[in-house]
Amino acid sequence: MQTKAFAVQSATTPFAHTTIARRAPGPKDVAIEVLFCGVCHSDLHTARSEWPGTQYPCVPGHEIIGKVTAVGAQVKKFKPGQTVGVGCLVDSCRTCCSCEEYLEQYCDGPVGFTGTYNGPVGGGTNTHGGYSAAITVDEHFVLAINHAENDLAAAAPLLCAGITTWSPLKHWKAGPGKKVGVVGIGGLGHMGVKLSHALGAHTVAFTTSPDKIADAKALGADEVVVSKNEDEMAKHINSFDLILNTVAASHNLDAFSTLLKRDGTMVVVGVPASPHPSPAVFNLIIKRRSIAGSVIGGIAETQEMLDFCAKHGITSDIEVIAMQDIETAYARMLKSDVKYRFVIDMATLKNG
Ligand code: NAP
Ligand code: ZN
Ligand code: ZN
Repeated sequence: MQTKAFAVQSATTPFAHTTIARRAPGPKDVAIEVLFCGVCHSDLHTARSEWPGTQYPCVPGHEIIGKVTAVGAQVKKFKPGQTVGVGCLVDSCRTCCSCEEYLEQYCDGPVGFTGTYNGPVGGGTNTHGGYSAAITVDEHFVLAINHAENDLAAAAPLLCAGITTWSPLKHWKAGPGKKVGVVGIGGLGHMGVKLSHALGAHTVAFTTSPDKIADAKALGADEVVVSKNEDEMAKHINSFDLILNTVAASHNLDAFSTLLKRDGTMVVVGVPASPHPSPAVFNLIIKRRSIAGSVIGGIAETQEMLDFCAKHGITSDIEVIAMQDIETAYARMLKSDVKYRFVIDMATLKNG
């Protein structure tokens, strides 16, 4: 099936209309019309080759909400007309220990998990993401969406920004009695604040943008710290159980690791194009602190997060854009000027 899409042909060329091939649904596949697609900073890193390995043409997008148009004969969970989501992964080996533990994002198979875009599909080709009119996905990697119809655009960012913050918050047991910091109030960070607050943790937002203070409180932060202010930072020394660092740029990790209490953990989820300066080992050994990493989340925990958000009325704070505005959106993302996630209305893909 030929499908309309928006693609870049190289790291330096702008996005433009293109046509891509989508497979006709096999027995276990779900064919989906894409209604909305969130814009993740990873889309920008990939499209612009800020990370190694981008294959062109590149069609990013892994915060997909759509309607099922057709299902294969063996599909049990979904039927045509249903609202569904697709996040960051569309395949994995299904047999390794990680896959058996429902942690497909840590698949130990020969190629690891298959990303929704820029993932290997054999024959030198790669997967294409949600900046497109339609996508075909194995039902195992399709999520049920129970948000109200008028919340669907705002639910799209849960598929990456939501699960990428939910998974470490749950793994490191954010909840009542815990002090949790969220660094960087962008797409991931604003969801981190909402989810940490909803899980009952005392939540502190760290931002480099003083104009985000009021918003961060409205999102659920109990306290907001402008991280460039050393006096404000010093008040929080040795006090955090968990810090979720979502910053998309290289920065000094020591400024935050020193805020962890004994046995505290800073989970780094941001993946900047150039590495952070090496963290000071002394800061880690002196209080048995950890710096850890975490990548997106498994399909089961993504469904758990989506159901939690639907039940508690949690969505992302979004600015809906037309597909043709994607270059402007990327430029604003690089200036930390996103309030707090761009979501593409895919109906605009039909425009010239
Ligand atoms: P985003 O919307 O651009 O937000 C990043 C935020 O980081 C900005 O809004 C800004 O917040 C802060 N920031 C930016 N530049 C900074 C700098 N030079 N110094 C300090 N703070 C800075 O990006 P996102 O979509 O949330 O993604 C964040 C990162 O996570 C990206 O690297 C992305 O690729 C990565 N990511 C990782 C995973 C995973 O599985 N681990 C999943 C998705 C995305 P303030 O204005 O509040 O300072
Ligand atoms: Zn993402
Ligand atoms: Zn596996």
